[in-house]
Amino acid sequence: MKIAVLREGADGEQRVAATPETVKKFIQLGADLAVESGAGAGASIADEAYRDAGATVGDRAGTIAGADIILGVQGPDPASLAGAKPGAWVAAGLNPFGDRARVDAYAAAGLEALAMEFMPRITRAQSMDILSSQSNLSGYKAVLDAAAEYGRAFPMMMTAAGTVSAAKVFVMGVGVAGLQAIATARRLGAQVSATDVRSATKEQIQSLGAKPIFVENVAGIEGEGSGGYATEMSAEYQKAQAELVSGHIAKQDIVITTALIPGRAAPRLISDAQIATMRPGSVIVDLAVEQGGNVEGSVAGEIVVKHGVKIVGHRNVPSRLAADASALFSRNLFNFLSAFWDKEQGRPVLDEEIGDAVRLTRDGKVVNQRLLAAG
Ligand code: NAD
Repeated sequence: MKIAVLREGADGEQRVAATPETVKKFIQLGADLAVESGAGAGASIADEAYRDAGATVGDRAGTIAGADIILGVQGPDPASLAGAKPGAWVAAGLNPFGDRARVDAYAAAGLEALAMEFMPRITRAQSMDILSSQSNLSGYKAVLDAAAEYGRAFPMMMTAAGTVSAAKVFVMGVGVAGLQAIATARRLGAQVSATDVRSATKEQIQSLGAKPIFVENVAGIEGEGSGGYATEMSAEYQKAQAELVSGHIAKQDIVITTALIPGRAAPRLISDAQIATMRPGSVIVDLAVEQGGNVEGSVAGEIVVKHGVKIVGHRNVPSRLAADASALFSRNLFNFLSAFWDKEQGRPVLDEEIGDAVRLTRDGKVVNQRLLAAG
C-alpha cells in the first residue's frame, strides 16, 4: 500500500497535503509513503523532515509509480499522473463544480477521484472536513489582511494626545470563516456586527459579542438548506437585505464578506453605489472573490480602490497561512483515510455514506450524483 504526496502545481499554492506528522501516522498504519521533492517547501517543511519521518523523497514519476493513493491539496494536473496505477485514488480538493473538465480527465485516465470538499456535513466527518479547517484560517487571515490595508487602528485607544476610536467591522456571511472573522476582529478590539441569511447564526453572532444585523418580517427568511448550507433567497428578501445593508454599510470601516452558496456563483451583497457611501480609507475583503465575488468590482488576486475604498481580493487565502493550513488539511486527509482503514486488506475501504459523497469517478466514468445532477 503506497501513498504518494505531490508537490502542488497550481500557481501560488503553498500548502502541502501531508506533513511529517501525518506521514508517520500513515506509516504506523502500515503504508509506504513517497513524497515529491520540494512538496513541503511552501509550508516550511524540508525534504529532510519527510525522510526523517520515514518517507522516501524523489521526483514526480518515482513518487506516483505504483501508488495506490495520491494526495494533493488541489487536484493534480491529470496529464502529470501518467504512469499512475489504474484505479489509484486521487484524494484532494478537486473543485468539481468549477473544473468539470479535470474530473472528466481523471475518469478517462482510469483514476478514482475523491473530492474532499464533498465530505458530508455529518458529525463523524467533522474531523475530515477541509472546507471547515481552511475556512477557519481564511476568516482569521481576512481580518489581518483588512487591518494591514487599513490606515487606522482597530482598538479604541485613549492616549495623552487624544482618543482613537474603535474600528467598526461588519461581517457578511457567518459560516465557519465569518465566525472566525468576528472572533478575530473582536480580539483586535473592533466593534463588530454581522449578518447572514440563516437565522440560526443570530445567536452565534451574539455569543461572540457582536451585533446581529438581520432582515425581519420577510417570508422565507429561514435561509437554511441541507447540510447547514444557505439557499438562494427570494427577490423580496434580497431587496430587504440590500436596504438594510445600505443603511449599515455607510457607517462601517471594514467589511468582510464570506457568503457562498454551494454549486452556484457567490451572491452579490455589496454594490458599487453602496461602496460609494463608505468613508475613504475603508477596506472591504471579499473572501468569495474566486467564486464570482460578493462585492461589485472586486478582482481575484488584486487590491482595487473604488471611491477611496480598498477592495481586497486575495486568491487562495488559506495558502497565505501555509504552515497551519497544511497541518490541518493533512490531518483532515489522515482522519479520513484512517477512519476507513481495513487492517486485513491494509488499505482504506470507504463506506457508502461518505464514499458515495466524495467519489467523483470510478471505472472510467463520472459517478458522483451531486455532480451529475449539476449537469
Ligand atoms: P459557506 O462557506 O457555504 O457560506 C458562508 C456563509 O455565507 C454561510 O453562513 C451562509 O449562510 C452565508 N450566506 C449565503 N448567502 C448569503 C447571503 N445572501 N447573505 C448573507 N449571508 C449569506 O458556509 P460554511 O462556512 O460552510 O458553514 C455553513 C454551516 O454549516 C455553518 O453553520 C457551519 O457551522 C456548518 N458546518 C457543519 C459541519 C459539520 O457538521 N460537519 C461542517 C462545516 C460547517
